[in-house]
Amino acid sequence: MNEILKIEGLSKTFTKKGFFSSNTDTVKAVNDVTFSLDEGEILAIAGQSGSGKSTIAKLILRAIEPDSGKIYFSGKEISSNVQNLKNFRAQCQMVYQDPYDSVNPRMKVSDIINEPLEIHNIGSKEERYQIVLKTLQQVKLEPAKEILEKFPHMLSGGQRQRVVIARALVTNPKVIIADEPVSMLDVSIRGEILELLDEIQKKNNISIIYITHDLATAKFFADKIIILYSGKIVESGFISEVLSNPKHPYTQALIDAISKPDPKNLYKEKNISWKTNS
Ligand code: ADP
Ligand code: MG
Repeated sequence: MNEILKIEGLSKTFTKKGFFSSNTDTVKAVNDVTFSLDEGEILAIAGQSGSGKSTIAKLILRAIEPDSGKIYFSGKEISSNVQNLKNFRAQCQMVYQDPYDSVNPRMKVSDIINEPLEIHNIGSKEERYQIVLKTLQQVKLEPAKEILEKFPHMLSGGQRQRVVIARALVTNPKVIIADEPVSMLDVSIRGEILELLDEIQKKNNISIIYITHDLATAKFFADKIIILYSGKIVESGFISEVLSNPKHPYTQALIDAISKPDPKNLYKEKNISWKTNS
């Protein structure tokens, strides 16, 4: 398989101002992280809250600058050169956790999905309209022509996350980074959104980095997994191997967390049932 994305020695330290004193604290949010992603592969990055997952996503997209480390896309290093970055961002799109927060509430669905096409100068006005329509159908928002005219507040959380996914998909990217894409959604619709991402991945042969604190969904979805702890990769490999034979105590702790009969984990059972149904 061809390697599409490669991350090498990525590190980022944040400096936090003390709340009551002038003391400053430093946090090594990401500490010498190296991994690669193959074409068409789904890689889960799993770890507890604060382990550095979102920081890795932001560093890859250069929303923040790394202290050190390199990022390669299709074998070419991504520099901070503006044009280079712009091209990369059309190829590597992000789906954020909060569908309420990641779309502009004043924009119609048509404009939200059309915007990346305009930014990247793709197609004529009429071609863009057709692409937007087709993308809405891909994320199963129908009737597409009606949805196009709606504002975000007129949609449900799940529909809104479909809009966010359509926006990520519309430039025909090679990679999608999904940062806890279902954790803000109602438990009952998490399954269908993950199923949609899975279907899109297969249909378009996209690679996905699936960021989660939840091994149950990772297990359903991903081929490989990286376990992150305090900004460091403590374990990685094929997901079936890592989960059936965890080498690191922290991985075991994450596994124990999903096998507890916690009501919050009920959707795990749901996931299993819709997986076997399909
Ligand atoms: P996760 O996504 O796994 O929950 P994050 O990447 O958001 O973790 O955060 C990793 C660590 O870095 C945490 O300790 C967090 O408080 C810290 N951090 C993240 N972003 C910033 C920032 N902009 N300024 C200061 N500290 C930050
Ligand atoms: Mg996060």
